[in-house]
Amino acid sequence: MLDFIIKLSAIFKARQRINSLVWRTPLIESYELSKRTDEQVYFKAECLQVTGSFKLRGAASKILSLTGEERSRGIIAVSSGNHGRAVSYIASHLGIEATICVSKHVPENKLAAIRRNGAQLVVEGQTYEEAEEIAVGIQRERGLVRIDPFDDPYVIAGQGTLGLEIIEDLPEVRTVLVPMSGGGLISGIAIALKSADPSIRLIGVTMEKGAAMVESLRAGHIVEITEEPTLADGLAGGIPPDNRYTFRLCQRYVDDAVLVSEAEIARAMRFALEEDHLVVEGSGAVGIAALLHDKVAKLKGPVVAVLSGGNVDLGVLLEIANQHGALGQRHVGS
Ligand SMILES: *Cc1c(COP(=O)(O)O)cnc(C)c1O
Repeated sequence: MLDFIIKLSAIFKARQRINSLVWRTPLIESYELSKRTDEQVYFKAECLQVTGSFKLRGAASKILSLTGEERSRGIIAVSSGNHGRAVSYIASHLGIEATICVSKHVPENKLAAIRRNGAQLVVEGQTYEEAEEIAVGIQRERGLVRIDPFDDPYVIAGQGTLGLEIIEDLPEVRTVLVPMSGGGLISGIAIALKSADPSIRLIGVTMEKGAAMVESLRAGHIVEITEEPTLADGLAGGIPPDNRYTFRLCQRYVDDAVLVSEAEIARAMRFALEEDHLVVEGSGAVGIAALLHDKVAKLKGPVVAVLSGGNVDLGVLLEIANQHGALGQRHVGS
């Protein structure tokens, strides 16, 4: 059974729950990337989502499933930035108290957005894992309800609503490239797409530095990784050893995994800005990077690259826009 843990019907239910809070984002053909790859390439522009990333879908799906008693206790989340922003946005909307724990490496633009949503922000720890330990302590002490960024059936079903939109807008899709960290996004999308057509190929893309899920899939069990600074800060962090859902779902559904370098990510961000006039953060641009640098063997179109987020620090974006023109030309050679 394809939907052995999370059923397609759960994704439709999630869509009903979150409909009024989450946008349906556009699917846009990238003329220039289609030309360069000789396939039709579309961008699922989730960088335009409310709060700037798809994380809103999963967070809304989970928080709206909580009981009144759970909501009154307050919620807590650990985040590399975008999940915290999504959780704090929904919480402020519903009048729920939210505490967000992040490491010291989460970019300032993401912290500012979380603060603006009125959440209590705890910036402690050098890595995602350390922030997580701190969150567990606070959660116990204050009896808060944990909103996991990926390893939760309601969250995964919420992310799956993005897959429904892809298959509705482009039923003939053959290949989908999805930025992958904990694997909640690709799992949800895979359940939606493979329920419609199991031959649709799902490719997880992540950065070379600290590719937790890719290394775990290769090893056949969850492995620990060292977290390093990367342009794809939204993909940073390991997979906790007590993972219940996403590792198994990825084992089952991810057809291929691809790694991209920091220079390739920068090049992809610049490409999206210049050619498609989209602001995409490093994590959201890894699919473009994989296509631009010909990382997918036997690519078959139509292709969809999920641009999972747009929350990039303006200073970083401007630096990339100014620096990587010549680099890109050399890499692509066209
Ligand atoms: C969280 C995040 C991802 C990865 O999602 P997972 O469900 O952890 O695989 C990808 N892109 C962006 C922008 C994110 O914030």
